[in-house]
Amino acid sequence: MIRDVRRWTSPVVAGVLATASVALVNPLTSGDAGPGAGGHPVVRNVIFINGDGMAAAHREAARLYYAGLGGQLVMDGFPVSGQLTTSPDDPEDVVTDSAAGASAWATGVATYNGAISVDTAGNPLPTLGAQAKAAGKATGLVTTAQVTDASPAAFFSNAVDRAAQDDIARQYLQVSKPDVILGGGEDWWLPAGSPGAYPDQPPEDPTEGSRGTKGDLIAQARADGYRYVSTPAQLAAAGRGKLLGLFANQEMFQQRPEGQGDVYAPVVDLATMARKALATLSADRDGFFLLIEEEGVDEFAHNNNGSRTLQAMGELEKAVAVAKQFAATHRDTLVVVTGDHETGGLAVEDVNAADESGTGTSAEDGPFPVRGSDKSFVIDWTTTAHTGQDVPVTAYGPLAGRFTGKHPNTYVYDVLQPLLTR
Ligand SMILES: [Zn+2]
Repeated sequence: MIRDVRRWTSPVVAGVLATASVALVNPLTSGDAGPGAGGHPVVRNVIFINGDGMAAAHREAARLYYAGLGGQLVMDGFPVSGQLTTSPDDPEDVVTDSAAGASAWATGVATYNGAISVDTAGNPLPTLGAQAKAAGKATGLVTTAQVTDASPAAFFSNAVDRAAQDDIARQYLQVSKPDVILGGGEDWWLPAGSPGAYPDQPPEDPTEGSRGTKGDLIAQARADGYRYVSTPAQLAAAGRGKLLGLFANQEMFQQRPEGQGDVYAPVVDLATMARKALATLSADRDGFFLLIEEEGVDEFAHNNNGSRTLQAMGELEKAVAVAKQFAATHRDTLVVVTGDHETGGLAVEDVNAADESGTGTSAEDGPFPVRGSDKSFVIDWTTTAHTGQDVPVTAYGPLAGRFTGKHPNTYVYDVLQPLLTR
């Protein structure tokens, strides 16, 4: 039985365990934050967390790896759970992409794959992010993808094609105006020839480089009153007020199969960005809406890279713990954790060489140790694409109980829109 001893002692594990023990002794984690508990019916703040590509098996693999057979992830310990179906309204596809999935959350309307909060005829739809801002709330987005990638874009812009990331950035500044923007994707904020803080054509991915067609949007953001940061030190030092942080040319990682240049080592981690966003947004007395996204789950699952998918799940879990700790001390905060679709057809299996079902990229990964036991499991893959599996949704805080049951993904909008606009 092969063991990866290094992973037992990784900072991810230590961080998750430290946070989990804090949560265990927190008196607010039990029934009083659950459905129908009463006493805190008003939701002032909403933290919506997307594990991109994360469905039940990703959560189970991470539970075994980080918490063990009898353990529980913070994200799974929320008092309310339900399921979401993810079907798009696409002329060809049955299975959603991230654009249609996030558009369903952000607008309540099922649409075609590639659509950013436009209907099937291409008409723009009101987004949760813009509506929350119009209602006086602070808004923000934090992601390890490009800040203009499909999921955050759907909450804060409208586009007939998700590829228009430079125009999506322009809309952030000119239309939806989120107060906090943290993640990757610097390439879309600067014209070709202006490398910015992250050099063009870096050795880890020579295809990266500035490519915006809307001028110098970083300069525009500064002129609009944003503080712009590109390093962890600058992020830590930034005071309150509007904040733009870009920490990579594109994604904050290199998504590839194992051993082929796969890298997950962001200059600043998702939990740190989430903590900064919460400190900034919570200064608004009207409340806030914050989107937090871990994109690595999806991208590494596309590459059928089990080790990195688990690593990204660990980073997501740490960010969920940050959100939960905030909500435990800000009782008018609702936290929702879900995924936009399943990626990879991931299966958790016993170690058994006789049942291998794939070759090459899609060969089984592992074995991975089950924390606190002498057992191991392998991750097997069905596809390098998305699947139509349901996604779990878990919720914590006032009105969390609304997420009980099985609903289409558009239901997220139906629950959150009234909370963010009253
Ligand atoms: Zn994907």
